[in-house]
Amino acid sequence: MRCPYCDVDNDRVLDSRASEDGGAIRRRRECLSCHERYTTYERVERSAPRVIKKDGTRVPFDRMKIQQGIERACWKLPVDESQVDTIVREIEVVLENRNDPEITSQEIGELVMEYLRELNQVAYIRFASVYRAYRNIRDFVQELQPMLEEFKSDSTIAPHPPTSYRK
Ligand SMILES: [Zn+2]
Repeated sequence: MRCPYCDVDNDRVLDSRASEDGGAIRRRRECLSCHERYTTYERVERSAPRVIKKDGTRVPFDRMKIQQGIERACWKLPVDESQVDTIVREIEVVLENRNDPEITSQEIGELVMEYLRELNQVAYIRFASVYRAYRNIRDFVQELQPMLEEFKSDSTIAPHPPTSYRK
């Protein structure tokens, strides 16, 4: 470990113990060059899971894809960047806390929908219509029916989604 005081990489470990919650190993070190003491923590690395796509291929988790999907769904709606960013970050935390190295793209989609449903129902409908396209359309319409009633007089629904959204 490189010494934070003199930058020399020559130290000895004086003491190693588990942190209180057991989630880390705490090591007390002494620099053999300048004799300053410092502490390091060793933790298990929690990384974002790999995503299993519908065709079975696995790709690294890509937060930009989630962000763009949400932005498309929120096109021209009263949703600002920070709200989108908050959702993306919350989803990342949920994924990290699952402690599962893999997740299906469908599970991620369902997760995004949960947040969009809270945020803005129009965005939710747009996202769901793309995401659940492979499912029985009748189930989808049934699910949307109560919401569609609410929106009949709502002028914020864009008559046509942008072409980039249509896929
Ligand atoms: Zn040193």
